[in-house]
Amino acid sequence: MNRSTSRDLYDRALDVLPGGVNSSVRATRPYPAFIERGDGAHVIDADGNRYIDYVMGYGPLLLGHDLPESVRAAVQSTLSEGPMYGAPTEIEVELAEFVARHVPSVEMCRFVNSGTEATVSAVRLARGYTGREKIVVMQGGYHGAQESTLVEGSPDDPRPSSPGVPQSFAEHTIPVPFNDTEAIEAIFEAHGDEIAGVLTEPLLGNTAGVLPVEGYHERLRELCDESGALLIFDEVMTGFRVGGLQCAQGKLGVTPDLTTFAKIVGGGFPAGAIGGPAEIVESFTPAGDVFQSGTFSGHPVAMAAGLETLRYAAENDVYDHVNRLGEKLRQGLTEITEDRAPGYTVLGTDSMFKLVFTRGDAAAPGPECGAGCRQDPDCDRFDRCPKTGADVEQSETERWERLFRPAMLDDGIFLTANQLESQFVSHAHTDEDVEETLEAYKAYFE
Ligand SMILES: *Cc1c(COP(=O)(O)O)cnc(C)c1O
Repeated sequence: MNRSTSRDLYDRALDVLPGGVNSSVRATRPYPAFIERGDGAHVIDADGNRYIDYVMGYGPLLLGHDLPESVRAAVQSTLSEGPMYGAPTEIEVELAEFVARHVPSVEMCRFVNSGTEATVSAVRLARGYTGREKIVVMQGGYHGAQESTLVEGSPDDPRPSSPGVPQSFAEHTIPVPFNDTEAIEAIFEAHGDEIAGVLTEPLLGNTAGVLPVEGYHERLRELCDESGALLIFDEVMTGFRVGGLQCAQGKLGVTPDLTTFAKIVGGGFPAGAIGGPAEIVESFTPAGDVFQSGTFSGHPVAMAAGLETLRYAAENDVYDHVNRLGEKLRQGLTEITEDRAPGYTVLGTDSMFKLVFTRGDAAAPGPECGAGCRQDPDCDRFDRCPKTGADVEQSETERWERLFRPAMLDDGIFLTANQLESQFVSHAHTDEDVEETLEAYKAYFE
Protein backbone atom coordinates (compact mmCIF):
# COMPACT_ATOMS: atom_id res chain seq x y z
CA MET A 1 0.00 0.00 0.00
CA ASN A 2 1.48 3.32 -1.04
CA ARG A 3 1.40 5.93 1.75
CA SER A 4 4.04 8.29 0.41
CA THR A 5 1.83 11.39 0.72
CA SER A 6 1.23 10.59 4.40
CA ARG A 7 4.95 10.11 4.88
CA ASP A 8 5.72 13.48 3.29
CA LEU A 9 3.02 15.19 5.38
CA TYR A 10 4.42 13.64 8.56
CA ASP A 11 7.88 14.84 7.57
CA ARG A 12 6.50 18.41 7.41
CA ALA A 13 4.46 17.93 10.58
CA LEU A 14 7.54 16.92 12.59
CA ASP A 15 8.96 20.44 12.01
CA VAL A 16 5.97 22.31 13.41
CA LEU A 17 3.98 19.98 15.69
CA PRO A 18 5.63 18.16 18.61
CA GLY A 19 5.85 14.50 17.60
CA GLY A 20 4.06 15.56 14.41
CA VAL A 21 0.61 15.37 16.04
CA ASN A 22 -1.85 17.17 18.33
CA SER A 23 -2.78 14.16 20.47
CA SER A 24 -0.08 11.67 21.39
CA VAL A 25 -1.95 8.51 20.44
CA ARG A 26 -2.09 9.61 16.78
CA ALA A 27 1.65 9.18 16.21
CA THR A 28 1.40 5.56 15.03
CA ARG A 29 4.45 3.72 13.73
CA PRO A 30 6.30 4.22 11.55
CA TYR A 31 4.25 7.28 10.52
CA PRO A 32 0.49 7.88 10.71
CA ALA A 33 -1.88 7.67 7.77
CA PHE A 34 -3.11 11.25 7.24
CA ILE A 35 -6.85 11.18 6.70
CA GLU A 36 -8.39 13.13 3.87
CA ARG A 37 -12.05 12.24 4.38
CA GLY A 38 -14.54 9.88 5.93
CA ASP A 39 -17.18 7.86 4.11
CA GLY A 40 -19.71 6.00 6.28
CA ALA A 41 -17.70 3.36 8.17
CA HIS A 42 -14.57 4.09 6.14
CA VAL A 43 -11.74 6.60 6.11
CA ILE A 44 -9.71 7.50 3.04
CA ASP A 45 -6.13 8.62 3.51
CA ALA A 46 -4.11 11.25 1.68
CA ASP A 47 -2.90 8.65 -0.84
CA GLY A 48 -6.44 7.51 -1.60
CA ASN A 49 -6.23 4.25 0.40
CA ARG A 50 -9.54 3.17 1.89
CA TYR A 51 -9.88 1.53 5.31
CA ILE A 52 -12.72 0.17 7.45
CA ASP A 53 -12.50 2.48 10.46
CA TYR A 54 -12.82 1.23 14.05
CA VAL A 55 -11.09 4.27 15.57
CA MET A 56 -14.18 6.41 14.93
CA GLY A 57 -12.48 9.50 16.30
CA TYR A 58 -11.58 7.47 19.45
CA GLY A 59 -15.25 7.22 20.36
CA PRO A 60 -17.38 10.23 19.37
CA LEU A 61 -18.65 9.00 15.98
CA LEU A 62 -21.56 6.77 16.99
CA LEU A 63 -23.20 7.30 13.59
CA GLY A 64 -20.06 7.00 11.46
CA HIS A 65 -18.57 9.63 9.18
CA ASP A 66 -21.67 10.64 7.22
CA LEU A 67 -23.89 12.71 9.45
CA PRO A 68 -27.59 11.90 8.94
CA GLU A 69 -29.53 14.66 7.18
CA SER A 70 -31.12 15.89 10.43
CA VAL A 71 -27.71 16.31 12.10
CA ARG A 72 -26.15 17.96 9.10
CA ALA A 73 -29.09 20.36 8.74
CA ALA A 74 -28.98 21.33 12.43
CA VAL A 75 -25.22 21.95 12.30
CA GLN A 76 -25.46 24.01 9.11
CA SER A 77 -28.40 26.14 10.20
CA THR A 78 -26.85 26.80 13.63
CA LEU A 79 -23.57 27.73 12.00
CA SER A 80 -25.19 29.99 9.43
CA GLU A 81 -26.65 32.08 12.27
CA GLY A 82 -23.17 32.80 13.63
CA PRO A 83 -20.71 30.56 15.47
CA MET A 84 -21.21 31.57 19.14
CA TYR A 85 -22.31 34.44 21.37
CA GLY A 86 -21.19 34.32 25.01
CA ALA A 87 -24.89 34.36 25.90
CA PRO A 88 -27.29 31.46 26.50
CA THR A 89 -29.11 29.76 23.61
CA GLU A 90 -32.14 27.45 23.49
CA ILE A 91 -30.18 24.52 22.10
CA GLU A 92 -28.11 24.03 25.29
CA VAL A 93 -31.32 23.88 27.36
CA GLU A 94 -32.73 21.25 25.00
CA LEU A 95 -29.59 19.10 25.16
CA ALA A 96 -29.52 19.32 28.98
CA GLU A 97 -33.21 18.33 29.08
CA PHE A 98 -32.48 15.36 26.82
CA VAL A 99 -29.57 14.15 28.97
CA ALA A 100 -31.56 14.61 32.20
CA ARG A 101 -34.51 12.67 30.73
CA HIS A 102 -32.40 9.62 29.79
CA VAL A 103 -29.51 9.30 32.25
CA PRO A 104 -30.51 8.05 35.73
CA SER A 105 -28.09 10.18 37.80
CA VAL A 106 -28.62 13.43 35.94
CA GLU A 107 -30.97 16.21 36.93
CA MET A 108 -28.86 19.03 35.56
CA CYS A 109 -25.65 19.45 33.56
CA ARG A 110 -22.90 21.98 33.11
CA PHE A 111 -21.54 21.83 29.55
CA VAL A 112 -17.83 22.18 28.79
CA ASN A 113 -15.69 21.48 25.71
CA SER A 114 -13.91 18.16 26.29
CA GLY A 115 -13.65 15.11 28.48
CA THR A 116 -10.61 16.52 30.21
CA GLU A 117 -12.47 19.69 31.09
CA ALA A 118 -15.40 17.64 32.38
CA THR A 119 -13.25 15.59 34.77
CA VAL A 120 -11.28 18.65 35.94
CA SER A 121 -14.55 20.35 36.86
CA ALA A 122 -16.07 17.21 38.40
CA VAL A 123 -13.05 16.78 40.67
CA ARG A 124 -13.21 20.44 41.73
CA LEU A 125 -16.95 20.11 42.31
CA ALA A 126 -16.50 16.99 44.47
CA ARG A 127 -13.83 18.72 46.52
CA GLY A 128 -15.80 21.95 46.84
CA TYR A 129 -19.06 20.18 47.70
CA THR A 130 -17.59 17.81 50.32
CA GLY A 131 -14.91 20.13 51.68
CA ARG A 132 -12.44 17.23 51.34
CA GLU A 133 -9.34 16.87 49.17
CA LYS A 134 -8.58 13.25 48.30
CA ILE A 135 -9.71 11.65 45.05
CA VAL A 136 -9.58 7.88 44.54
CA VAL A 137 -8.89 6.74 40.96
CA MET A 138 -8.36 3.31 39.35
CA GLN A 139 -4.87 2.29 38.23
CA GLY A 140 -5.01 2.14 34.43
CA GLY A 141 -8.11 4.33 34.28
CA TYR A 142 -7.97 7.45 32.12
CA HIS A 143 -9.68 10.76 32.80
CA GLY A 144 -7.94 13.05 30.33
CA ALA A 145 -4.84 15.19 30.53
CA GLN A 146 -5.33 16.65 34.02
CA GLU A 147 -3.20 17.05 37.13
CA SER A 148 -5.41 15.22 39.64
CA THR A 149 -5.60 12.01 37.63
CA LEU A 150 -2.22 11.78 35.85
CA VAL A 151 -1.12 9.80 38.87
CA GLU A 152 0.21 6.25 39.11
CA GLY A 153 1.75 4.06 41.77
CA SER A 154 0.03 2.63 44.81
CA PRO A 155 -2.22 4.11 47.51
CA ASP A 156 0.79 4.59 49.80
CA ASP A 157 3.06 5.85 47.05
CA PRO A 158 1.15 7.96 44.50
CA ARG A 159 3.43 9.49 41.87
CA PRO A 160 2.84 11.82 38.92
CA SER A 161 2.56 9.79 35.71
CA SER A 162 3.96 12.74 33.73
CA PRO A 163 6.69 15.31 34.28
CA GLY A 164 5.07 18.65 35.01
CA VAL A 165 2.64 17.30 37.59
CA PRO A 166 3.95 18.26 41.05
CA GLN A 167 4.39 15.44 43.56
CA SER A 168 2.40 17.60 45.99
CA PHE A 169 -0.61 17.36 43.62
CA ALA A 170 -0.24 13.60 43.26
CA GLU A 171 -0.44 13.25 47.03
CA HIS A 172 -4.12 14.16 46.97
CA THR A 173 -4.87 11.23 44.64
CA ILE A 174 -5.16 7.59 45.71
CA PRO A 175 -4.71 5.09 42.85
CA VAL A 176 -6.24 1.66 43.56
CA PRO A 177 -6.58 -1.50 41.45
CA PHE A 178 -9.98 -1.78 39.66
CA ASN A 179 -12.17 -4.71 40.72
CA ASP A 180 -10.36 -5.12 44.04
CA THR A 181 -12.97 -4.77 46.77
CA GLU A 182 -10.56 -5.39 49.63
CA ALA A 183 -8.18 -2.67 48.44
CA ILE A 184 -10.90 -0.03 48.29
CA GLU A 185 -12.33 -1.10 51.65
CA ALA A 186 -8.89 -0.64 53.22
CA ILE A 187 -8.64 2.85 51.70
CA PHE A 188 -12.00 3.88 53.12
CA GLU A 189 -11.06 2.37 56.47
CA ALA A 190 -7.90 4.51 56.59
CA HIS A 191 -9.04 7.71 54.83
CA GLY A 192 -12.87 7.58 54.64
CA ASP A 193 -13.43 11.07 56.00
CA GLU A 194 -10.78 12.65 53.74
CA ILE A 195 -12.14 11.29 50.44
CA ALA A 196 -14.03 13.80 48.29
CA GLY A 197 -14.82 11.29 45.58
CA VAL A 198 -14.13 7.99 43.85
CA LEU A 199 -13.64 8.68 40.16
CA THR A 200 -13.89 5.62 37.90
CA GLU A 201 -14.89 4.60 34.42
CA PRO A 202 -17.80 2.14 34.68
CA LEU A 203 -15.55 -0.23 32.72
CA LEU A 204 -11.89 0.41 31.93
CA GLY A 205 -12.42 1.64 28.37
CA ASN A 206 -8.93 3.07 28.13
CA THR A 207 -7.43 -0.26 29.19
CA ALA A 208 -9.04 -2.33 26.45
CA GLY A 209 -12.49 -2.52 28.10
CA VAL A 210 -12.06 -4.52 31.33
CA LEU A 211 -15.55 -5.08 32.78
CA PRO A 212 -16.38 -4.79 36.49
CA VAL A 213 -16.70 -8.01 38.48
CA GLU A 214 -20.13 -8.61 39.95
CA GLY A 215 -20.85 -6.36 42.92
CA TYR A 216 -17.82 -4.07 42.53
CA HIS A 217 -19.66 -0.84 41.73
CA GLU A 218 -22.39 -1.67 44.25
CA ARG A 219 -19.66 -1.86 46.91
CA LEU A 220 -18.18 1.48 45.76
CA ARG A 221 -21.67 2.98 46.05
CA GLU A 222 -22.03 1.71 49.65
CA LEU A 223 -18.58 2.88 50.72
CA CYS A 224 -19.22 6.37 49.29
CA ASP A 225 -22.63 6.54 50.98
CA GLU A 226 -21.22 5.48 54.35
CA SER A 227 -18.39 8.00 54.25
CA GLY A 228 -20.03 10.95 52.52
CA ALA A 229 -17.73 10.73 49.46
CA LEU A 230 -19.16 11.23 45.96
CA LEU A 231 -19.19 8.38 43.44
CA ILE A 232 -18.20 9.86 40.07
CA PHE A 233 -18.62 7.80 36.90
CA ASP A 234 -16.47 8.99 34.03
CA GLU A 235 -18.76 8.09 31.14
CA VAL A 236 -16.80 10.13 28.60
CA MET A 237 -16.30 6.96 26.54
CA THR A 238 -19.25 4.80 27.66
CA GLY A 239 -21.85 7.60 27.75
CA PHE A 240 -24.52 7.11 25.05
CA ARG A 241 -22.64 4.04 23.85
CA VAL A 242 -22.71 1.30 26.52
CA GLY A 243 -26.29 0.77 27.66
CA GLY A 244 -27.59 3.13 24.95
CA LEU A 245 -29.21 6.39 26.04
CA GLN A 246 -29.26 5.42 29.74
CA CYS A 247 -25.46 5.00 29.54
CA ALA A 248 -23.39 2.37 31.38
CA GLN A 249 -24.86 3.40 34.76
CA GLY A 250 -28.33 2.36 33.59
CA LYS A 251 -27.04 -0.93 32.25
CA LEU A 252 -25.08 -1.68 35.45
CA GLY A 253 -27.90 -0.50 37.71
CA VAL A 254 -25.62 1.64 39.86
CA THR A 255 -26.35 5.37 40.08
CA PRO A 256 -23.35 7.62 40.68
CA ASP A 257 -23.54 11.08 42.26
CA LEU A 258 -21.76 12.78 39.38
CA THR A 259 -21.26 11.73 35.77
CA THR A 260 -18.84 13.15 33.22
CA PHE A 261 -19.63 13.01 29.50
CA ALA A 262 -17.89 14.03 26.27
CA LYS A 263 -17.23 12.20 22.97
CA ILE A 264 -20.73 11.17 21.73
CA VAL A 265 -22.52 14.01 23.58
CA GLY A 266 -20.96 16.46 21.09
CA GLY A 267 -21.96 14.45 18.02
CA GLY A 268 -18.45 14.74 16.55
CA PHE A 269 -17.79 18.28 17.78
CA PRO A 270 -15.94 19.32 20.97
CA ALA A 271 -18.30 19.16 23.94
CA GLY A 272 -18.34 17.66 27.41
CA ALA A 273 -20.61 17.80 30.44
CA ILE A 274 -20.76 17.24 34.19
CA GLY A 275 -24.15 15.91 35.29
CA GLY A 276 -25.78 15.08 38.59
CA PRO A 277 -28.51 16.05 41.04
CA ALA A 278 -29.28 19.77 41.43
CA GLU A 279 -28.27 19.55 45.10
CA ILE A 280 -24.66 18.93 44.02
CA VAL A 281 -24.37 20.50 40.55
CA GLU A 282 -25.78 23.82 41.79
CA SER A 283 -22.56 24.20 43.76
CA PHE A 284 -21.06 25.45 40.48
CA THR A 285 -20.92 29.21 40.02
CA PRO A 286 -23.03 31.26 39.62
CA ALA A 287 -25.62 29.12 41.49
CA GLY A 288 -23.00 28.16 44.09
CA ASP A 289 -19.42 29.06 44.81
CA VAL A 290 -17.30 26.35 43.11
CA PHE A 291 -15.78 28.30 40.22
CA GLN A 292 -16.46 26.92 36.74
CA SER A 293 -16.51 28.84 33.48
CA GLY A 294 -15.68 28.66 29.76
CA THR A 295 -15.80 30.99 26.75
CA PHE A 296 -16.83 28.19 24.38
CA SER A 297 -18.91 26.13 26.85
CA GLY A 298 -22.28 25.15 25.42
CA HIS A 299 -21.04 26.03 21.93
CA PRO A 300 -24.18 26.18 19.77
CA VAL A 301 -22.79 24.11 16.88
CA ALA A 302 -21.57 21.33 19.19
CA MET A 303 -24.85 21.40 21.15
CA ALA A 304 -26.85 21.11 17.90
CA ALA A 305 -24.70 18.21 16.68
CA GLY A 306 -24.95 16.42 20.03
CA LEU A 307 -28.70 16.87 20.38
CA GLU A 308 -29.53 15.75 16.85
CA THR A 309 -27.16 12.77 17.12
CA LEU A 310 -28.85 11.60 20.33
CA ARG A 311 -32.32 12.22 18.88
CA TYR A 312 -31.37 10.19 15.83
CA ALA A 313 -30.17 7.37 18.11
CA ALA A 314 -33.43 7.53 20.07
CA GLU A 315 -35.57 7.30 16.94
CA ASN A 316 -33.64 4.68 14.95
CA ASP A 317 -32.23 1.22 15.57
CA VAL A 318 -28.75 2.61 16.25
CA TYR A 319 -27.94 0.72 19.46
CA ASP A 320 -29.44 -2.59 18.28
CA HIS A 321 -27.31 -2.34 15.16
CA VAL A 322 -23.98 -1.36 16.71
CA ASN A 323 -24.35 -3.79 19.62
CA ARG A 324 -25.21 -6.70 17.31
CA LEU A 325 -22.14 -6.02 15.17
CA GLY A 326 -19.99 -5.55 18.29
CA GLU A 327 -21.14 -8.97 19.51
CA LYS A 328 -20.45 -10.48 16.09
CA LEU A 329 -16.90 -9.10 16.14
CA ARG A 330 -16.19 -10.29 19.68
CA GLN A 331 -17.68 -13.70 18.90
CA GLY A 332 -15.64 -13.99 15.69
CA LEU A 333 -12.43 -12.94 17.45
CA THR A 334 -13.09 -15.43 20.25
CA GLU A 335 -13.38 -18.22 17.66
CA ILE A 336 -10.29 -17.12 15.71
CA THR A 337 -8.10 -17.05 18.82
CA GLU A 338 -9.77 -19.94 20.68
CA ASP A 339 -7.03 -22.54 20.52
CA ARG A 340 -4.39 -19.85 21.08
CA ALA A 341 -5.85 -18.53 24.31
CA PRO A 342 -4.98 -17.52 26.94
CA GLY A 343 -2.41 -15.89 24.67
CA TYR A 344 -5.30 -13.66 23.59
CA THR A 345 -8.33 -12.32 25.39
CA VAL A 346 -11.33 -10.63 23.78
CA LEU A 347 -12.60 -7.63 25.76
CA GLY A 348 -15.38 -5.08 25.40
CA THR A 349 -19.16 -4.91 25.48
CA ASP A 350 -21.96 -3.37 23.41
CA SER A 351 -20.25 -1.62 20.47
CA MET A 352 -16.74 -1.70 22.00
CA PHE A 353 -14.26 -4.47 21.23
CA LYS A 354 -10.59 -5.25 21.64
CA LEU A 355 -8.36 -8.26 21.18
CA VAL A 356 -5.70 -8.16 23.90
CA PHE A 357 -2.38 -9.88 23.37
CA THR A 358 -1.30 -11.51 26.60
CA ARG A 359 2.14 -12.85 27.41
CA GLY A 360 3.32 -16.45 27.32
CA ASP A 361 1.42 -19.18 29.13
CA ALA A 362 0.19 -21.46 26.38
CA ALA A 363 -2.25 -23.93 27.95
CA ALA A 364 -5.84 -22.72 27.58
CA PRO A 365 -7.90 -23.63 30.64
CA GLY A 366 -11.19 -23.80 28.73
CA PRO A 367 -13.43 -21.69 26.50
CA GLU A 368 -14.18 -18.02 27.14
CA CYS A 369 -17.45 -17.29 28.91
CA GLY A 370 -19.09 -15.39 26.05
CA ALA A 371 -18.40 -13.17 23.08
CA GLY A 372 -15.53 -11.66 25.03
CA CYS A 373 -14.71 -11.81 28.74
CA ARG A 374 -17.83 -11.29 30.90
CA GLN A 375 -16.06 -11.66 34.29
CA ASP A 376 -18.13 -14.77 34.94
CA PRO A 377 -16.87 -16.38 38.19
CA ASP A 378 -17.92 -19.81 36.86
CA CYS A 379 -15.72 -19.50 33.75
CA ASP A 380 -12.56 -21.65 33.78
CA ARG A 381 -10.54 -18.59 32.85
CA PHE A 382 -11.96 -16.29 35.50
CA ASP A 383 -8.75 -16.13 37.55
CA ARG A 384 -6.60 -15.43 34.51
CA CYS A 385 -8.60 -12.89 32.52
CA PRO A 386 -7.67 -9.22 33.07
CA LYS A 387 -9.28 -7.62 36.14
CA THR A 388 -7.19 -4.46 36.44
CA GLY A 389 -5.43 -1.94 34.24
CA ALA A 390 -2.11 -3.46 35.28
CA ASP A 391 -3.19 -6.89 33.98
CA VAL A 392 -3.63 -5.40 30.51
CA GLU A 393 -0.59 -3.14 30.68
CA GLN A 394 1.71 -6.01 31.63
CA SER A 395 0.73 -7.89 28.50
CA GLU A 396 2.58 -7.53 25.23
CA THR A 397 2.28 -4.16 23.52
CA GLU A 398 5.19 -4.06 21.07
CA ARG A 399 3.57 -6.80 19.00
CA TRP A 400 0.43 -4.72 18.49
CA GLU A 401 2.29 -1.58 17.46
CA ARG A 402 5.11 -3.08 15.39
CA LEU A 403 3.51 -6.11 13.75
CA PHE A 404 -0.22 -6.40 14.15
CA ARG A 405 -1.53 -2.89 13.55
CA PRO A 406 0.67 -2.24 10.47
CA ALA A 407 -0.38 -5.60 8.96
CA MET A 408 -4.06 -4.82 9.54
CA LEU A 409 -3.59 -1.36 8.02
CA ASP A 410 -2.13 -2.95 4.89
CA ASP A 411 -5.22 -5.15 4.81
CA GLY A 412 -7.47 -2.08 4.90
CA ILE A 413 -8.49 -2.20 8.56
CA PHE A 414 -7.95 0.99 10.61
CA LEU A 415 -7.44 0.09 14.28
CA THR A 416 -6.53 2.15 17.35
CA ALA A 417 -2.88 2.92 18.05
CA ASN A 418 -2.11 0.41 20.78
CA GLN A 419 -3.67 -2.48 22.60
CA LEU A 420 -4.95 -0.32 25.44
CA GLU A 421 -7.34 1.81 23.37
CA SER A 422 -10.75 0.31 22.70
CA GLN A 423 -12.28 0.15 19.21
CA PHE A 424 -15.75 1.20 18.19
CA VAL A 425 -18.49 0.02 15.84
CA SER A 426 -20.64 2.75 14.29
CA HIS A 427 -24.14 2.75 12.82
CA ALA A 428 -22.51 2.96 9.39
CA HIS A 429 -20.73 -0.43 9.72
CA THR A 430 -22.35 -3.37 7.94
CA ASP A 431 -22.27 -7.16 8.33
CA GLU A 432 -20.00 -7.24 5.25
CA ASP A 433 -17.54 -4.84 6.93
CA VAL A 434 -17.44 -7.07 10.00
CA GLU A 435 -16.91 -10.21 7.91
CA GLU A 436 -14.10 -8.56 5.95
CA THR A 437 -12.54 -7.45 9.24
CA LEU A 438 -12.69 -10.93 10.73
CA GLU A 439 -11.06 -12.33 7.56
CA ALA A 440 -8.18 -9.89 8.04
CA TYR A 441 -7.74 -10.89 11.69
CA LYS A 442 -7.83 -14.55 10.64
CA ALA A 443 -5.22 -13.99 7.93
CA TYR A 444 -2.91 -12.38 10.49
CA PHE A 445 -3.11 -15.38 12.78
CA GLU A 446 -2.63 -17.99 10.02
C1 LIG B 1 -11.41 10.30 26.12
C2 LIG B 1 -11.57 10.24 27.59
C3 LIG B 1 -11.31 11.35 28.41
C4 LIG B 1 -10.69 12.61 27.88
O1 LIG B 1 -11.53 13.28 27.01
P1 LIG B 1 -10.90 14.40 26.03
O2 LIG B 1 -12.08 14.94 25.29
O3 LIG B 1 -9.91 13.68 25.18
O4 LIG B 1 -10.25 15.42 26.89
C5 LIG B 1 -11.62 11.27 29.75
N1 LIG B 1 -12.16 10.16 30.27
C6 LIG B 1 -12.42 9.07 29.53
C7 LIG B 1 -13.05 7.87 30.18
C8 LIG B 1 -12.12 9.07 28.17
O5 LIG B 1 -12.36 7.96 27.44
